[in-house]
Amino acid sequence: MPSYARLPPSGIKVIIVGAGFAGLCAAIECDRKGHSVILLEKVVELKPLGDIISFASNSGHIFERWEGVVDKLEPISHHSEGLDFHDWKGNFATRQTWDADKQWGRRINGHRGEIHLVVYEHARARGIDIRLGQHVTDYFETDSEAGVVVNGERLAADCVVSAEGVKSPGRKIVLGYEDRPKPSGYAVYRTWFSSHELAKNERTKHLVVNGDSHTGWIGEDKHFLAAAIKNGKEFSWVLTHKDDADIDEDWQFPGDREEVRRNLVGWAPVVHDIVDATPPDRLVDYKLVFRDPLPTFISPKARIALIGDAAHPFLPTSIQGASQSMEDGVTLAITLEKAGKENVPLGIRAYEAIRYERVHRAQKTGVTTREQWHKADWDKIWKDPKSLHLKREAWLLDFDAEPHAYDVVEDVLKKLSHGTAVSSPPTAWRSPETNGIQPVRAQGN
Ligand SMILES: Cc1cc2nc3c(=O)[nH]c(=O)nc-3n(C[C@H](O)[C@H](O)[C@H](O)COP(=O)(O)OP(=O)(O)OC[C@H]3O[C@@H](n4cnc5c(N)ncnc54)[C@H](O)[C@@H]3O)c2cc1C
Repeated sequence: MPSYARLPPSGIKVIIVGAGFAGLCAAIECDRKGHSVILLEKVVELKPLGDIISFASNSGHIFERWEGVVDKLEPISHHSEGLDFHDWKGNFATRQTWDADKQWGRRINGHRGEIHLVVYEHARARGIDIRLGQHVTDYFETDSEAGVVVNGERLAADCVVSAEGVKSPGRKIVLGYEDRPKPSGYAVYRTWFSSHELAKNERTKHLVVNGDSHTGWIGEDKHFLAAAIKNGKEFSWVLTHKDDADIDEDWQFPGDREEVRRNLVGWAPVVHDIVDATPPDRLVDYKLVFRDPLPTFISPKARIALIGDAAHPFLPTSIQGASQSMEDGVTLAITLEKAGKENVPLGIRAYEAIRYERVHRAQKTGVTTREQWHKADWDKIWKDPKSLHLKREAWLLDFDAEPHAYDVVEDVLKKLSHGTAVSSPPTAWRSPETNGIQPVRAQGN
């Protein structure tokens, strides 16, 4: 039975809503810092849903602090030397390797459901009180506590963390109004399946018979990325393309291979062969929704905090949604630890002050990368193929949320309690584009 590092009890009771990566990470980190956690998840049984998800080097440090987790993640993760870019006709352009990232930390890419299960099992093994089948329908807060209505009953604590994902109703109490997700104008066909058929095809077998591979084809307003995982035995691809569908409540539908093929007229035969080898029942049509950046992540009395996609949905091209959702939980656990049980609202405000600018800056990278690929001028690219490479920026990726939060938290708490504006946060990665961006308080906050 492994032993788990944990600070002495802080006396702070935290209710967390949603056991996605944001909620699970916040629960584990709160447990590590000695807070007492109840984690509520609406699904009755966690199933290994989803397909490929990426955790960048900035979240690798977080996994590494969780006893035994990396040993379980490594065998199910993607391992390739680099990403091979082609134009849509199949001409090889450039390989991007991840040497800088390797110095900055561990990257973990793999099946979302499988990684999620490893993290969930870790949280359970730590003894965290995780309650499945608990659908939260409302939130409340007073000057001395915050709570939720769950399955018709009220449950209260010192604070509530809303980690309900992009559809979060918790946003309503923070914003004071209901905002709905908006279509982004793009959608992704996505899938994950056994690479058995691909291994038999002369045009596709090089993608799967030599271990893992990572390959991209870039065309006008579309990109197709494919990855072989588990020593080439499994395969995942995503095609991001324009989509004007008006999304209401649902944005995930069964995919149609014929529609995918229509999107790929004139594209390389190898890409068509990959689509043909895809089992139709494994194809998903995933409309990309976004929300306007929130004016604040916290409720008027500062006892309820939004984290993860509930606070800041990311486009997949940022490759940061899951990593940023984990940074939230790490930071929040530390700001609560340092604020103490008597000052929980101050701790919640410090969480927002530390996270706000960094998250908004990271969100922007999703649009920048999509435009870099979708609006590519190939005459220029053939002169400088590396211009296709994903930007690997130290401010984003060479970052560890735990030491960072410990570095800045005392100063932030002092400034907030003295009513001094916090430049969010007081560190080196401030950027010209977001310099000075500040949360806007809801009335009474
Ligand atoms: C089923 C699923 C599949 C996904 N697949 C992929 C993928 O393949 N690739 C990828 O890059 N990203 C995927 N994502 C998104 C990705 O996991 C998130 O963008 C990122 O990890 C941030 O996670 P989050 O915890 O903020 O939100 P989410 O991962 O959306 O988790 C939110 C959690 O809150 C629970 N919840 C919601 N409302 C309530 C409520 N009222 N009461 C109690 N619980 C509630 C949900 O059931 C869910 O477990 C998927 C998300 C989900 C939920």
